Amino acid sequence: MKKLSILLYLSACIGFAQNADEKQLKSVYSTSLINGQSYAWLDHLSNNIGGRLSGSTNAAKAVQYTKSELEKLGLDNVWLQEVMVPKWERGKAEEAYILTNSGKITVPICALGGSVATKSGGIVAEIIEVKGIEDLKALGEGKIKGKIVFYNRPMQPDLISTFEAYGGCVDQRYAGAKEALKFGAVGVVVRSMNLRLDDYPHTGSMGYEDVAVEDRIPAAAISTNGAELLSKQLQKDSKIKFGFTMHCKQYDDVLSHNVIGEIRGSEFPNEIIIVGGHLDSWDLGDGSHDDGAGVVQSMDVLRLIKETGYTPKRTIRVVLFMNEENGLRGGRKYAEIAKEKGEKHVFALESDAGGFTPRGFSFDCSPENFAQVESWKALFKPYLIHYFEKGGSGADIGPLKDDQIVLAGLRPDSQRYFDHHHAANDTFDAVNKRELELGAATMTSLVYLFDKYGTVKKKKIKG
Ligand SMILES: [Zn+2]
Repeated sequence: MKKLSILLYLSACIGFAQNADEKQLKSVYSTSLINGQSYAWLDHLSNNIGGRLSGSTNAAKAVQYTKSELEKLGLDNVWLQEVMVPKWERGKAEEAYILTNSGKITVPICALGGSVATKSGGIVAEIIEVKGIEDLKALGEGKIKGKIVFYNRPMQPDLISTFEAYGGCVDQRYAGAKEALKFGAVGVVVRSMNLRLDDYPHTGSMGYEDVAVEDRIPAAAISTNGAELLSKQLQKDSKIKFGFTMHCKQYDDVLSHNVIGEIRGSEFPNEIIIVGGHLDSWDLGDGSHDDGAGVVQSMDVLRLIKETGYTPKRTIRVVLFMNEENGLRGGRKYAEIAKEKGEKHVFALESDAGGFTPRGFSFDCSPENFAQVESWKALFKPYLIHYFEKGGSGADIGPLKDDQIVLAGLRPDSQRYFDHHHAANDTFDAVNKRELELGAATMTSLVYLFDKYGTVKKKKIKG
């Protein structure tokens, strides 16, 4: 063939492939919006089972439910992977109050996950406000000893990514107690990680690291309205006291499971693509956004692949990880077993940022793979998916990282996520059906493209 006719032939081939991809994406989105299953699954997970804290009866029920639903999809294989997880219980509802000269003002608090209880009858002590861990040193033991430390740095409101704002504050929650006890504090109260002013305290994990059990101090989150009120009262009178009671308890680790299902690849069955979310949640709400949404969307990816009649070349696996919230044991176990078996994972996608309108993905991969992803961007334009950036992926898939794999996270609109995150209002009614289904379709589309075209292999340096 002459040069020109070769060029014409090649561009016709590319055009044909693009057309096929456009058609497949259209079919995926239509099927998800007309005949999606994610919302019905989420309804059951949230309303019939509820909050699924690791080691709880509800978490075990969620394992059985999702396994049996995956079995109904006619996948090639569905199984449970054993994993030992921590078990922590909140116990009776927490109580807290500000003690002023004119009386007691009740404020909403909740124990942070992993905290020790207060002594029976609770703690009452003077309280000192700081804007972060870095303030402790300046105050020193003289001003902190015997008091409760109140961490009150708010999430930065002018950051467009609310996850970035969260990242700028969450050290107070995770490490606030272990740092404050070095200066003799008797407890800590942390402003909830929430951009909105409301009455919901938001829990989340905290750690004491190597602090002996008998030296640990209790840690609670206070609602944003509660934090504002407490700060105002402290400005009026720095000698006011704060009282709180918590009944939480840590138990020995218990056996739990990751839930896994797969469609075997027709051409390269040893190249594995995984899609997942975490099955556990905090206990205050029913974990609809965090991360029931990611769980049901991931399940629907495999269903949508089958429903649209696409035969994957590579093995497509859904993994519902246990214990992301307070241990990441499920993610670590999955990667450990994959390594033991010598499995080759080429692409992993996680949805763990809420069931809101999808905007795109963030990627953790080589420049070559990122260039390939960018070449697919136009295919997503009709669905208003435009965010393709390098950055983090997902906590559960992180342990799979090596120099070949492409890791990605679904990135939905994040403006309302922290209104609900880890709080009692993370419930089914806060999830919109269409937004959830668009997320499932967006994930399925990316999985399809990675399955069809594979990843760009890193060139081996000769010599
Ligand atoms: Zn999550």
